[in-house]
Amino acid sequence: MKITIAIDGYSSTGKSTVAKQLADWLEYIYVDTGAMYRAVTLYAMQQGLIADGFFDKEALIKKLDQIKITFTRDTTSGKAEVCLNGKNVEQDIRNLEVSSFVSPIATVSEVRSKLVEQQQHMGEEKGIVMDGRDIGTVVFPNAELKIFMTASAAERAKRRYNELVERGDDVNYESVLANVQERDHIDTTREDSPLVKANDAIEIDNTETNIDDQFHTILQLAKDRIAKRI
Ligand code: C5P
Repeated sequence: MKITIAIDGYSSTGKSTVAKQLADWLEYIYVDTGAMYRAVTLYAMQQGLIADGFFDKEALIKKLDQIKITFTRDTTSGKAEVCLNGKNVEQDIRNLEVSSFVSPIATVSEVRSKLVEQQQHMGEEKGIVMDGRDIGTVVFPNAELKIFMTASAAERAKRRYNELVERGDDVNYESVLANVQERDHIDTTREDSPLVKANDAIEIDNTETNIDDQFHTILQLAKDRIAKRI
């Protein structure tokens, strides 16, 4: 019997790494909901609806029908990549500019309900690992396994900074840390679906845990839940 696995937590806590590992191992679908919010953000940037100190929220709401988010599988890596209106934007959504606008975009209820509806549809058949901020609380409140991931802001910023540098982006650590802290603040204090640990979620702080140990801990939890459903 397949289950639903919800992985929530702060930015750069390694949610997507462990979610992908679990999905590969269990042969489940993996959905990165952050990529969906990032793709909407990229659309808003391309349309000139958001820029430094400016956000035309009403115009974005009016244009929501014109935004189609889908996923495609990269033929070489086998990874799911996000598409905005048919164009693969996986690389374009990972930079610091998109990161700096995504949290304000994610406060808009109309954006959230559009994406949540699509996410719930993707999980109708179970057999899904979804990561984000509101998966265990809003998208799949009945998920059989809920994980809530945390790590210190400094450690998360270090991981994010290394990722960006590896991609060849010209960034400095201080601005990455500031972005991580700002997103934490907006994500946890917004009115609609704030980032909060679900009552029945298992909290994992991985500031000092290695990725393999963490994967095995969570895989064991998943196996226990699956066994209960058989
Ligand atoms: O996971 P990632 O860091 O790519 O997410 C980018 C942003 O998208 C988050 O900081 C948050 O503002 C928003 N988000 C959200 N709800 C989700 C997933 C992401 O609000 N389920």
